[in-house]
Amino acid sequence: MKPCLGIHWFRRDLRIAGNTALKANWKKNSGNVLGIFCFDSHFLSRPDFSNNRFALFLKTLEALQLELREMGSDLLVIDALPQVALPQLITHLRKDHDLSFLTYNRDYEPFARKRDDEIENILRDIQLETQSFRDHLLIEPEELFKQMPGEFYQVYSPFAKKWFDLYSSDSIQKRISEQNAGLKYLDKKPSQPLFKLSLKTKNPLFKDSLQDFIKKNDPSVTIPIPSAGSHVAYQHANAFVKKINEYKESRDYPSVAGTSRLSIFLKNGSITSSQIISILNLQKLSYKKEDGSTRYLKEIVWREFYYHILYHRPDVEKKSFLKKYENIKWENNKEWFRRWCEGTTGFPIVDAGMRELNTTGWMHNRVRMIVASFLCKDLLIDWRWGENYFMKMLLDGDLAPNNGGWQWAASTGCDPQPYFRIFNPWLQSEKFDPQAEYIKHYVPELKNCTAKNIHAEEADRGTQYPRPIVQHQMQKVKALSLYK
Ligand code: FAD
Repeated sequence: MKPCLGIHWFRRDLRIAGNTALKANWKKNSGNVLGIFCFDSHFLSRPDFSNNRFALFLKTLEALQLELREMGSDLLVIDALPQVALPQLITHLRKDHDLSFLTYNRDYEPFARKRDDEIENILRDIQLETQSFRDHLLIEPEELFKQMPGEFYQVYSPFAKKWFDLYSSDSIQKRISEQNAGLKYLDKKPSQPLFKLSLKTKNPLFKDSLQDFIKKNDPSVTIPIPSAGSHVAYQHANAFVKKINEYKESRDYPSVAGTSRLSIFLKNGSITSSQIISILNLQKLSYKKEDGSTRYLKEIVWREFYYHILYHRPDVEKKSFLKKYENIKWENNKEWFRRWCEGTTGFPIVDAGMRELNTTGWMHNRVRMIVASFLCKDLLIDWRWGENYFMKMLLDGDLAPNNGGWQWAASTGCDPQPYFRIFNPWLQSEKFDPQAEYIKHYVPELKNCTAKNIHAEEADRGTQYPRPIVQHQMQKVKALSLYK
């Protein structure tokens, strides 16, 4: 009799602990599970591809591969489209194994949904069962509707209220406790390997391409890439526990390390929102509460909201959510865009944010809102230019929240923020960086300038720092007429 074997197809669920689909596969095949990752040439040639984010992704894959090997399994990283690689690999493995099924965790982006439908069809043709699971969202887009299936929420607050209603139910709480069980594995690694792959399985058809990708990508990396993997994510989340009570206030100040910085780990599934909820002990919260923990959970709900929007309106990937704003006549001044990208607009808070992004691959949420509003409503540049630049530079660059954040800032999106509410960058910097500590850190030319001069539109900021490229009030008037 041939030994049984399951294949788990990793995509953006790069961890063992609390991995829903992997666990189901592991149970069914008594630990005989092989992990696969396929590099998709489409992904590598996207216009918003980022070598830096890719480096973090590769580092995460490397940590996962090492861990799987230590645990008696393997991760085979294949340089081929899954549509091509998976059927070939399955045919090959079937010679020596009784292949039971292929598992994967669901992804909600338009590209991934189309690809997964194709794979389902291909594997049906070669008679291999597939099973997909919920993993990276706590509540999936098909589970949360207004009254009737198909009637999706288009505004955050009613969505969040409904989300919290479902959240308190036994079935959702069970999801959290199940993933919590996975965390115990991170607390104390099992002394025995979890998996049992045979030697034959470890030498399959394809060459492992992970190290080749790392070598090829390395020269193009422009920033230090942080440590990666589920163990690092878990430590980060634990370190944030002591900050959660202050989160409600501290989250808005970019000079304070008041946010969790878990977005880079959520992006590739080193950790999930359910696991963060367990670690931060957020299970019992309700929508009405106002404390730091609830505020934090509401941010996780923002993430889920944007995924729901992308799922139900996949066209937002390219177009305005509000159709009436699809044809705004943006000025799209290339020189201004260049100055915005490099952080030399003469608006200190904007320049600090863009330099933080360019040098670290991350930007504080408050500053993301400021620079995004500035690009659309002061420089009159199409939000898609900014969205694309963010995707190229952000280590946490993620289609749904990035698109949602940009459309929110441009007032083309699904929130009732009226187009005429325009951030004043001078007031924002005075309010959220009163001592200009954040600004001085990223714009050292201003280190001898007083905070008062940094926040004033008409002030002497020395000869090393540029004059503001536009005048805010004048641009505001122009922006209002563009939207009309
Ligand atoms: P925390 O404050 O610790 O929040 C915890 C988690 O909640 C985050 O990790 C994130 O998953 C989620 N979250 C927090 N704020 C938001 C929000 N406004 N919208 C959606 N989810 C949120 N987030 C990304 O993950 N990827 C992006 O590409 C991205 N692009 C953005 C672009 C713009 C223009 C704006 C305004 C926001 C964007 N965000 C994006 C949302 C937010 O800025 C980041 O999630 C947050 O700054 C990450 O830092 P953190 O983990 O310390 O957040």
